[in-house]
Amino acid sequence: MTDKLKIASGHIELKSVSKFYGEGENYKEVIKDCSLEITPGVLSVMIGPSGCGKSTLIRLIAGFEKPNSGTITIDGRPVEGPGKDRLVIFQESALFPWMTTEDNILYGPRAIGQDNSKNRDLANFLIDKVGLNQFKKKFPNQLSGGMQRRCELARALINQPEVMVLDEPFRGLDEMTKELMWEYYANLYEENKATNFFVTTDIDEAIFLADRLIIMTNIPTRVAAVIDVDIPRPRRLSNIFELDQANAIKMKALKILHEEAMKSFRSGSKAAADFIDAYSKRVSS
Ligand code: ADP
Ligand code: MG
Repeated sequence: MTDKLKIASGHIELKSVSKFYGEGENYKEVIKDCSLEITPGVLSVMIGPSGCGKSTLIRLIAGFEKPNSGTITIDGRPVEGPGKDRLVIFQESALFPWMTTEDNILYGPRAIGQDNSKNRDLANFLIDKVGLNQFKKKFPNQLSGGMQRRCELARALINQPEVMVLDEPFRGLDEMTKELMWEYYANLYEENKATNFFVTTDIDEAIFLADRLIIMTNIPTRVAAVIDVDIPRPRRLSNIFELDQANAIKMKALKILHEEAMKSFRSGSKAAADFIDAYSKRVSS
């Protein structure tokens, strides 16, 4: 695929990024002094508690919003707004309901004035990769949820972005479909090796996919820990959690996430803090 999909890579760097909303009693600090690097050719997966500020961070990287302080650069260029170099896939389906699978996938190149014939080979290649050969001429409402997501992956990849950002793209799918999606997505990633930044709250998904796991603190969020996941690819779902290495990473990550969740629970109310103190004493005695 490397000769079919030539994807230049983007190196994303965040330095001391902070973001807040509102003022006075509506003031809410969402990201605080967050520094991180997302390197090309490495599948970086960010995991953090729900509501910690992950999507906010993505909106900043995408250039939809600006940080209040700190800098975000891609290959050294400051992010000033949205750009063709970055492609963001959100959980919500964005397929055009009046277009077939094939036309949806060809949409991006067509929108910038390219002839379909020029991209048909690449489209067919991607359609095959995401297992939609039999569904080329079908419309989104004739596809299952998982097929729609696969169609979206192909639709994004045909644009050959430097950076692909995926914000919980498989949330809401049933477990079996989700697992299948991981395999399709990992397979596409193994072939294109663009800069991929994948955001999730699902620890199994994170470990199955990641080369590098970025664990976030609770809100206001910043990086709590970075763990390299040196498990060889291609990985197999059927056996990855039989590996001690995968389980050790899972335990370590869960421990950090649990501590973060406890901090937020504790700061929720005095009753919650008292409960945790009493509980911790009971557990340790
Ligand atoms: P996550 O994606 O990790 O679940 P989000 O980034 O969506 O978290 O949201 C983090 C917090 O930021 C939430 O508490 C949300 O209320 C707050 N937030 C996000 N956008 C805004 C906004 N435009 N105005 C005020 N608060 C916001
Ligand atoms: Mg989110």
